[in-house]
Amino acid sequence: MAAHDPVEQKYVYDFAEGNKDLKDLLGGKGANLAEMTNLGLPVPPGFTITTEACKAYLTTGREPDGLAAQIEAHLESLEREMGRRLGDPDDPLLVSVRSGAKFSMPGMMETVLNVGLNDRSVIGLSNQAGGNDRFAWDSYRRLIQMFGKTVCEVPGEEFEHALDEIKSAKGTHNDLDLDADDLRGLVDAYKKIFAKHTGREFPQEPREQLDLAIRAVFDSWNAERAILYRRQERIPADLGTAVNVVAMVFGNLGPDSGTGVAFTRDPGSGAQGIYGDYLANAQGEDVVAGIRNTVPLQELEQLDKTSYDQLLGIMARLEEHYKDLCDIEFTIERGKLWMLQTRVGKRTAAAAFVIAGQLVDEGLIDLDEALHRVNGAQLAQLMFPRFQLDHEFEAVAKGIGASPGAASGKVVFTSARAVELAAEGESVILVRRETNPDDLNGMIAAKGILTSRGGKTSHAAVVARGMGKTCVSGADELDVNVPAKKFTVGDHVVNEGDVVSIDGTTGKVYLGEVPVMPSEVVQYFEGELDPENTDDALVRSVHRIMTHADAARRLRVRTNADTGADAARARRFGAEGIGLCRTEHMFLGDRRELVERLILASGEREREDALAALLPLQRADFIEIFREMDGLPVTVRLIDPPLHEFLPPLEQLAVNVAVAQERGEDVAKEEALLAAVRRMHEENPMLGLRGVRLGLVIPGLFAMQVRAIAEAAVAVVRDGGKACPEIMVPLVGAVQELETVRAEAERIIAEVVGDSGVEVLIGTMIEVPRAALTAGQIAEAAEFFSFGTNDLTQMGWGFSRDDVEGAFFWRYLELGIFGISPFESIDTDGVGRLVRIAAEEGRAARPGLKLGVCGEHGGDPDSVHFFHEVGLDYVSCSPFRVPVARLEAGRAAITTTGSDSR
Ligand code: PEP
Ligand code: MG
Repeated sequence: MAAHDPVEQKYVYDFAEGNKDLKDLLGGKGANLAEMTNLGLPVPPGFTITTEACKAYLTTGREPDGLAAQIEAHLESLEREMGRRLGDPDDPLLVSVRSGAKFSMPGMMETVLNVGLNDRSVIGLSNQAGGNDRFAWDSYRRLIQMFGKTVCEVPGEEFEHALDEIKSAKGTHNDLDLDADDLRGLVDAYKKIFAKHTGREFPQEPREQLDLAIRAVFDSWNAERAILYRRQERIPADLGTAVNVVAMVFGNLGPDSGTGVAFTRDPGSGAQGIYGDYLANAQGEDVVAGIRNTVPLQELEQLDKTSYDQLLGIMARLEEHYKDLCDIEFTIERGKLWMLQTRVGKRTAAAAFVIAGQLVDEGLIDLDEALHRVNGAQLAQLMFPRFQLDHEFEAVAKGIGASPGAASGKVVFTSARAVELAAEGESVILVRRETNPDDLNGMIAAKGILTSRGGKTSHAAVVARGMGKTCVSGADELDVNVPAKKFTVGDHVVNEGDVVSIDGTTGKVYLGEVPVMPSEVVQYFEGELDPENTDDALVRSVHRIMTHADAARRLRVRTNADTGADAARARRFGAEGIGLCRTEHMFLGDRRELVERLILASGEREREDALAALLPLQRADFIEIFREMDGLPVTVRLIDPPLHEFLPPLEQLAVNVAVAQERGEDVAKEEALLAAVRRMHEENPMLGLRGVRLGLVIPGLFAMQVRAIAEAAVAVVRDGGKACPEIMVPLVGAVQELETVRAEAERIIAEVVGDSGVEVLIGTMIEVPRAALTAGQIAEAAEFFSFGTNDLTQMGWGFSRDDVEGAFFWRYLELGIFGISPFESIDTDGVGRLVRIAAEEGRAARPGLKLGVCGEHGGDPDSVHFFHEVGLDYVSCSPFRVPVARLEAGRAAITTTGSDSR
């Protein structure tokens, strides 16, 4: 290491130098290996190359200065510690080279095992293993295969094909039947494949192997599947991966060796106990790939009680240390246990809530931390329905419930077909023997994933759980034939396109479509399940955490609702008022005719008649809503969309009129309608005669609505209720618009309300960028602002809400211009800045100005945190997202030192 250069950056850390809080620098795997090393647990020695080195490499295309020398120094000290040299022909040190980013990305990046093996050290390895030639040659062929595939892009199938050929020549399906000579022959075949594809011999120099493997791991950060996974999981693209170089330990040295994965609690349900899979005489990759079927971890007790007991002790220690569910990977090499990885384990949404509650009970964490450990996306998932089963539906197979939920869809057998059919709007179930990282696209497109091999920790299971997607794995009664596009189970043959249903909780597989039933969490929110009186651990935990979130949060949560039924449901879900009642739907249905009369009115008299007919209907609408929201604020927005949206479409009408004229029918009325539709036609209706503009152009329209609101409030109060209406003017861009509407509204309200005690606030949406930028002026005429972030995003970016998501957002996402649609999660830098400016300048002009948001972002978890931080008073969202917003508002309000719940 260049000790003479004091400013040289440190790129390599020995395991003894790191700790679990250095995930940014060392990645999750490296930080946790360091933590376990420092806890005194049996971790094979090694070192971690930092994410900084990776980032420098990815930016410049070459390893940063000083990295090679630092690796050399750490390698030397590793060699000293192990008493072996990398690739020594007589007594070789072998290392694994493993990726490890800050956030776990299972199977997305590269790993190379057995680095250091070559034509000479393979003999040394055999000697180390007590003359076990078979093991040594097997390790060597694995190196050529992995190195070839991941470092040099040699097609993996060629290696698999060569392996299959040797097995069939021997008349076996089992790798374990191949002897040392077979494997030596396989090494020769692999080397030829390598040379054919790369134009060079397989590198014999161990340090060259190591450097190329490290570079391949760096490069794998930008592999297509890794990019896709990050986008799906909202992991930032610029973190880079660390690389761990670890002394190899071997689980494939015979029956007293093996490898496994385990969880300290059930990651599916949260139930306490030991959950894991073990595979004797195997390396870790065999377990994750689901190549051979594992046995439950409990069986290790019979095979090797000492290691089993030691493992249980370590697992208990890790749980206590991390104060959370941990998942681990371990290897037993001839009766000696080695810990290869631990991390706070991924879990299902239900398990996240259940475990958080358990840990509070166990005194390991407090309620703030429990709240931090769950999130709104998980809660939303728990509000999905499940299968409704009765005797008519008999499962045809039972696999492992690897990721809960219920999914039905058409069977497909390839990732590409899944993507194709999903794009046509079909629900699909991706059926595979086992999945691998190349199936990621199909897994994203599918409603559910069904595999015939692999356990709870197989690739399919881990990735599906991470995505919150239903998955049944290891349904081994299924005989899956991908080339023939069918699977058989018992007497049934299921072809591509046939419908199946899978239950990710029970692991059951059904033929045909099974109806679904509501979730118990929804039943709890509906008030149908008493949380104090149920043995449902999930409901108890959700209740406890929601109660804490409600106590912690500063943001109020309202709902967007414009029917009494929606308002009532939202209230049961915890809404504290209505933040947006869109009045436009009230102009549809059998009221269309009145609206037509209004639009076609040829004089003041006719228009007034039409409005007078609408008034009582509107009043009744508002009475219903005020009653449901008794005592809580209700923001009613005056009509927003252009009026011609309530008229028939131009083309249709023109055709009808032409046909009727042809027949000589009396079409005077239709002609007048057609003329009106033509007159009102707009090229850009979103930027046209809508919102406040409409109110200023059609005399009496807003006045009628204001009167209906005020009269409804008075009626409710006279009945002993409490109505708290807030009248909201849409699409305001200038204070003068609002002042004009306000003057008329105040006059009507004063006239209607009299001494009833009803108080009506008047405010505005902030959804036009100019309104945000002149918020100080607008606040003079507004008692509240509600941010219409849908339009604000549309007009801030210049993106048509109705067109762009399908048209080109995929490309923007691909290029990383944004990580998620700005219509889904608030663009904090741009649109968010407009919100911030308006909030600050509005409040400066009118202290105490009430601020809320009623665009779609009001129910988006990340956006809720932003609105909390900006200091809004409330968010408003659709009824089903109210619990999610309550939870996230609570999470935003607590400060905690705990880990990220991602
Ligand atoms: C908005 O623009 O964010 C909003 C809530 O109004 P609408 O979606 O009805 O245009
Ligand atoms: Mg709007």
